[in-house]
Amino acid sequence: MNNETLLQRSLAAVWHPCTQMRQHEGGPGERLPLVPVVRASGAWLYDADGRRYLDAISSWWVNLFGHAHPRINAAIAEQLQTLEHVMLAGFTHAPAVELAERLSRLCGGALGHAFYASDGASATEIALKMAFHFWHNRGREQKREFVALSGGYHGETVGALGVTDVPIFRDAYAPLLRAAHLVPSPDARLALPGEDAAAPARRAAAALEALLEEKHERIAALILEPLVQAASGMAMYDPEYLQLARSLCDRFELLLICDEIAVGCGRTGTFFAHEQAGIRPDLLCLSKGISGGYLPLSVVLASETVYSAFLDEATARAFLHSHSYTGNPLACRAALATLDLFRESDALAQNRARGDTLEALLEPVFSHPAVRHPRRCGMIFACDVDADPGFGRRFYRAALDRELLLRPLGNTLYAMPPYILSGAEMEFLSEGMRGALEAALAE
Ligand SMILES: *Cc1c(COP(=O)(O)O)cnc(C)c1O
Repeated sequence: MNNETLLQRSLAAVWHPCTQMRQHEGGPGERLPLVPVVRASGAWLYDADGRRYLDAISSWWVNLFGHAHPRINAAIAEQLQTLEHVMLAGFTHAPAVELAERLSRLCGGALGHAFYASDGASATEIALKMAFHFWHNRGREQKREFVALSGGYHGETVGALGVTDVPIFRDAYAPLLRAAHLVPSPDARLALPGEDAAAPARRAAAALEALLEEKHERIAALILEPLVQAASGMAMYDPEYLQLARSLCDRFELLLICDEIAVGCGRTGTFFAHEQAGIRPDLLCLSKGISGGYLPLSVVLASETVYSAFLDEATARAFLHSHSYTGNPLACRAALATLDLFRESDALAQNRARGDTLEALLEPVFSHPAVRHPRRCGMIFACDVDADPGFGRRFYRAALDRELLLRPLGNTLYAMPPYILSGAEMEFLSEGMRGALEAALAE
């Protein structure tokens, strides 16, 4: 199938995610391009006509070590020869056990009980249900509400949308939702002239404290994305917020849920983002990068305190939640191979050097007169552009014209590349980003 055939058949038969399908209609040139990908390798995607695109957003933040990585490919192929899948209730298998043990060690043993699911939103649902049920099992039935941050994103299923504050995803379904209490974001961009990044973090923590003073008897958990609120526009904040939030959760008796679905797996510079605050959550959600970007997998890691509250003779006190593909062996093997790559390539140290290089190369973008709030956290690079609301779409197109996959969030430009870019690829990215910025502003 050539590009045009694949594209037309896709538009006829596939309902694409997060997409107004109307925008893909019309003739070539006027319509929003739909890119038919036939293969991928390293940081590059290739279409049916041999055109290539640098995957500078890691295919929606999931890919860590490039596409078609020989080590991950081999691990999945090997697993495929022995066990493709088996149910995880009443049965177990080595990939699920080894992955749970490895993740537990990465958290210093603080979160030693792994509950598996298949996608990020399910991990959020699990964490919320666990937090509620934890308090219920402890005889605190009144603790059944949640606190979430303004601008937070935790997935788009009905429960997860209740703790998500991204109007474009949430508002259409508001009547279906059980909305959480929203507290101010610690977003560093809210610093007043002369203030440092910790000032908005402290203000936001004071607002959280005020809410908890009043309502803590009814609150089961606080859920947040540590260090970077990704989907709402790469809002970055000072780790002090996490320290203050942790101590408020202890003082007012609520669980802290860290959603590291986007920021985990080395993305912010440490393996887990919360490590930078020297704290541990009670529940930790992982997905996206955990399988190296290969297969749907998510996991909620729980502390001993949470886990033990469910142990009882009574079945109803157990966490009776499941997904058909819970702990899929192929996905767990892909995750284990991904963790091997972290260790063997010393990826976190490599990323520090690579991130510094890319930050220097992005200087012409970051210092552009239309650009506000240039920022970086580990391997996330972002800035806001002073432009009309149509800018994001024009930029997306202009980037594709330059063989670059970059998909702005509103007027926030960001790059979140896989951890394997060569020097030449980083130059390609920064030059393309600057070119697309100029082109989209001029149009
Ligand atoms: C992507 C994301 C989710 C949802 O994960 P899905 O696999 O898309 O359901 C939840 N939380 C955060 C922080 C995310 O970035």
